[in-house]
Amino acid sequence: MADIGNPKSTMEIISKYNFNFKKDFGQNFLIDGNVLSRIVECAEVTGDDTVIEIGPGIGSMTQYLCRAAKHVIAIEIDKTLIPILEETLGEYDNIQIINEDVLKVDLKAIAEEYNGGRPVKVVANLPYYITTPIIMGLFEKDVPIDSITVMVQKEVADRMQVGPGTKDYGALSLAVQFYSKPHIVLNVSPECFVPKPKVGSAVIRMDKYDEPPIKAQDSKFMFKVIRAAFNQRRKTLVNALKNSAELSLDKESIESAIRELGLSPTVRGEALTLEEFARLSDILYKE
Ligand code: SAM
Repeated sequence: MADIGNPKSTMEIISKYNFNFKKDFGQNFLIDGNVLSRIVECAEVTGDDTVIEIGPGIGSMTQYLCRAAKHVIAIEIDKTLIPILEETLGEYDNIQIINEDVLKVDLKAIAEEYNGGRPVKVVANLPYYITTPIIMGLFEKDVPIDSITVMVQKEVADRMQVGPGTKDYGALSLAVQFYSKPHIVLNVSPECFVPKPKVGSAVIRMDKYDEPPIKAQDSKFMFKVIRAAFNQRRKTLVNALKNSAELSLDKESIESAIRELGLSPTVRGEALTLEEFARLSDILYKE
């Protein structure tokens, strides 16, 4: 099969199957061969790898992945794309297409079944409307992962890798940086997709830590503290944590924990590093 990821082949496939793009599924297909090969290169996919692809679309990136990997498992929610994928990827025998919602499927069981529980690589041009739940699910549900290389909205990629004191810093930055080492590997213009998205895009690679370098006694509790701090990010940290129903902490214990950390009583959550959040949550956890 010739390359799918160019304007001519993509339009031919779309008209052959009378396919209608579904905005609700975040369907923006890549039509730039350079971008597609760069993504697979940046993910460093080798013949030893099992790759999970989220949202294969008509198979533009899947094709590159099938050529590079040992095994590819592609999870696609849109059932009208399944017969198309069966044809476009017909020549590959290392592909498994699963017609499911990625947010409902048990990815840990998939890694177990197809890779004996060894770490997989996740590579995808993500549906942007569910970027955060997908990334959080991959990290929090104990899926054995080596790295995640994904196209996301540029603004979200920036949020994932920034540190304290910037407007983009928030719960997503802290979660991504707790579980992995992120770096943006490519910026991609709307021209490289059909239909063109209204926003700029970027590919970010997250190398998952075997053991998070920052330790917290209870990471679930730490993320409750982090969420509370950023749910009311204009308030002081003391007030944001005090107002959180999820935490039910009293003002005195929060103030005393913040003092113990050597921080100002009027500090805001956006000024704290991941390490400071870990220490703060350890102190509050004891209480
Ligand atoms: N990989 C293709 C490409 O690069 O051209 C398509 C990427 S497109 C941005 C996102 C894809 O994710 C679409 O094929 C869409 O149908 C699929 N998708 C959307 N929501 C999904 C979900 N919850 N589970 C699995 N796939 C989903």
